[in-house]
Amino acid sequence: MPSPFVPHLATLKAVQDLTPDVKLFSLEPLDPQVKESFTYKPGQFAFVSAFGVGEAPFGLTSVAARRDGMEFAIRRVGTVSAALHDLEAGATLGLRGPYGNSFPLEDYKGKDLLIIGGGIGFAPLRPVINTVLDPAHRAGFGRVTILNGARSPADLVFKEEFEAWAAAPNTRLELTVDRGDGKWQGRVALIPDVVVELKPAPANAVTIICGPPIMIHFTLIKLKEAGFADGQIVTTLEAKMKCGMGKCARCNVGDRHVCLDGPVFDFAQIKGLLEPF
Ligand SMILES: Cc1cc2nc3c(=O)[nH]c(=O)nc-3n(C[C@H](O)[C@H](O)[C@H](O)COP(=O)(O)OP(=O)(O)OC[C@H]3O[C@@H](n4cnc5c(N)ncnc54)[C@H](O)[C@@H]3O)c2cc1C
Repeated sequence: MPSPFVPHLATLKAVQDLTPDVKLFSLEPLDPQVKESFTYKPGQFAFVSAFGVGEAPFGLTSVAARRDGMEFAIRRVGTVSAALHDLEAGATLGLRGPYGNSFPLEDYKGKDLLIIGGGIGFAPLRPVINTVLDPAHRAGFGRVTILNGARSPADLVFKEEFEAWAAAPNTRLELTVDRGDGKWQGRVALIPDVVVELKPAPANAVTIICGPPIMIHFTLIKLKEAGFADGQIVTTLEAKMKCGMGKCARCNVGDRHVCLDGPVFDFAQIKGLLEPF
């Protein structure tokens, strides 16, 4: 039996700039059997490797059910991400996964959704949005409010999809930046302040929030003030991770493994386990 640590070979089909430091990578496994069997759900992640450099975990930002292939939005921060950013379409890289749990979208049926993402933290939210707003599923969910924030207008991810999201039925798209750029006509405000402005109603609602810990910390305060309970607020955790299979214990948070029990958790599950929250 092949080692689960050996990655599948995959072709980089396309690579696209999303922001000055985030690129969207579209991968396709070389082996047709792997291509067929590599299925995943919103919230799951995989390890992507640049050969000769290393591997790192990244969230799958595409929707498997839509046959979108496999997409990752990767921010250039360190060794592996920089090596991936230097690759061009046609390159061969490594892929192992998918790993982790997923957003329990079945449990959200009939509920209003407030989806809040900051910067690259928006990556795991894109497949949630594109699943829920899919005409085949849209009627199953209540009102959807999407709040996408970034440091500057150039740092907003998935701009090409804003028009379609804003036009979807019973859906509101709100954008905000920490600072404008002279041309930006939109909102300049921090995400927690926008949450106050939106006055979200907690009854029969779920909030999904992903982004920098500091943003989550202050947004949680505002959500609690609005009446949201810990179990109604869901996030994905990032942690230093080596194996992705619950063996190396690098990513444990309290008695939980982010790779196996997460990365999707609600705040009732992780309350008290994490410093910033
Ligand atoms: C489940 C999961 C999903 C994720 N999804 C995504 C995603 O969709 N997109 C995405 O862009 N990222 C995602 N990440 C984060 C990503 O895995 C990390 O950023 C990863 O470390 C990138 O690898 P790297 O080799 O490029 O960076 P590294 O070299 O590991 O550097 C990572 C960070 O650590 C800092 N650092 C590195 N070395 C040192 C040092 N010696 N001392 C101090 N600081 C140091 C770097 O400056 C950088 O900020 C995810 C992580 C997890 C666990």
